[in-house]
Amino acid sequence: MLKITNLHATVGGDREILKGLDLALKPGEVHAIMGPNGAGKSTLGNIIAGRDGYDVTEGSVEFEGADLLALEPEERAAAGVFLAFQYPVEIPGVNNTYFLRSALNAQRKARGEEELDSMQFLKVVREKLGVLHLDDKLLHRGVNEGFSGGEKKRNEIFQMAVLEPKLAILDETDSGLDIDALRQVAEGVNALRSPDRAFLVITHYQRLLEYIRPDYVHVLADGRIVESGGPELALRLEEHGYEWLRERKVPEA
Ligand code: ADP
Ligand code: MG
Ligand code: MG
Repeated sequence: MLKITNLHATVGGDREILKGLDLALKPGEVHAIMGPNGAGKSTLGNIIAGRDGYDVTEGSVEFEGADLLALEPEERAAAGVFLAFQYPVEIPGVNNTYFLRSALNAQRKARGEEELDSMQFLKVVREKLGVLHLDDKLLHRGVNEGFSGGEKKRNEIFQMAVLEPKLAILDETDSGLDIDALRQVAEGVNALRSPDRAFLVITHYQRLLEYIRPDYVHVLADGRIVESGGPELALRLEEHGYEWLRERKVPEA
């Protein structure tokens, strides 16, 4: 589904942040990306989603066989790429339901599908609220306006549920969450796992991965994937930190 080959990228014009990154995701898989602060994790997510400010200087990103980097951010979203932000934006005064319906309809339109009227959209919303065990309180407020940290994250998961992406990227969706909110976010992700959807879960901590059990864990350090493994790799990182990877020496168990 997603194939990243030898990706080099700079930020703000000259600084190279990604330095030859390779990564491949198949449908249905959940991959976790861990790594020290400043390693380039958010840069990777932002480049896949097509956010401004980054220049790819070498390498390629293919999504379902097509050149993802050639697409505008909106086209990527319509193709099924979703990025949940580390710090969700507030859009005061814009009703959450209205915002989501616009986003969904923009994507449907770009795919040549019929737009949903409010009744049809309400049906989708009810179904997703049910799947995620959320109540409809979030719907009637402004986008993230006055939301607590936990509510913002839940809202992101809800947005993801409504937009039904093929590739969902979560960038530190766990940062700043208490254990209940964390569990709820993880349960939401787990409810949305499906054979035709892949997840890229970027996280600084192992804790989230106790609830979202990834198929693969990768360590991104200094702009490259320096280690890949199963969920046990996350535990090793929790215990030993990232320094040992720099030395390329695996600590004894
Ligand atoms: P991570 O998410 O792994 O903590 P980031 O991808 O956010 O790392 O950042 C990687 C490096 O790129 C950091 O040194 C950061 O300061 C720098 N960086 C990221 N975005 C920008 C930007 N828009 N302008 C300048 N520097 C940036
Ligand atoms: Mg960071
Ligand atoms: Mg980051």
